[in-house]
Amino acid sequence: MIKEKKRGNLIIISGPTCAGKDTVIKELLKKRENTVCPISYTSRKIRKGEVNGVDYYFITREEFERKIENNDFLEYAKVRYGEYFGTPKKELEELLSNGKDVILEIDVQGASQVKKLFPETILIFILAPSMEELKRRIKQRGAEKNIEEVIDRFKTAYKEIQKIKKYNYVVVNDEIEKAVQKIEAILISEKCRVDRIEELYVQNEEEFMHELLMDEYFENKEKKITDI
Ligand code: 5GP
Repeated sequence: MIKEKKRGNLIIISGPTCAGKDTVIKELLKKRENTVCPISYTSRKIRKGEVNGVDYYFITREEFERKIENNDFLEYAKVRYGEYFGTPKKELEELLSNGKDVILEIDVQGASQVKKLFPETILIFILAPSMEELKRRIKQRGAEKNIEEVIDRFKTAYKEIQKIKKYNYVVVNDEIEKAVQKIEAILISEKCRVDRIEELYVQNEEEFMHELLMDEYFENKEKKITDI
């Protein structure tokens, strides 16, 4: 009766540091075959446990600036300590037109750039249950070497949370599994939007009534024959 648009959805997931975005996205990708998350480029230093080409493509600031000049990024921003983060433009259009749902895990500045380019983008904000919990997670992760870095993370987190009203959905990550379920529910609902209908095949009323009456007529006729 309906033909849906083949084009995939573009989804942005933002949220303060240690809100659990990475883990939630990893779990989500395991569950959803048709969903991908392109790898960003960054000029920040690689951390212990990170892998080049998996977590990010780690490049120098100069290489990043060359890529900006080449217009290689869909969006980019200086997120913290003047370090660049950017989403590659290449492949995105192809992925969307092949029906893939594309998740971008980017900061609020990048989100507003992408929203301008693709107004249909679905914006999801992930939050930790409380600032106390956020503090606990930052300390536990221990990626920051000194107190200034921890404070800087908090400042950025506060700034990002101020932008939450620009988003369409908020997901509080108190338990990974529940947060993943909520995001899945959002993605499923978004696929049911009426504006995703490409064509609607509905016969006109007269045609339909005629068919209905003919079916009934033949059914009755068959019945009579078998009755005999
Ligand atoms: P980190 O990896 O240093 O913990 O945090 C990186 C921050 O940069 C996160 O807020 C993340 O959402 C953001 N980020 C990661 N990749 C991109 C990107 O490609 N573009 C933008 N604008 N932000 C990004």
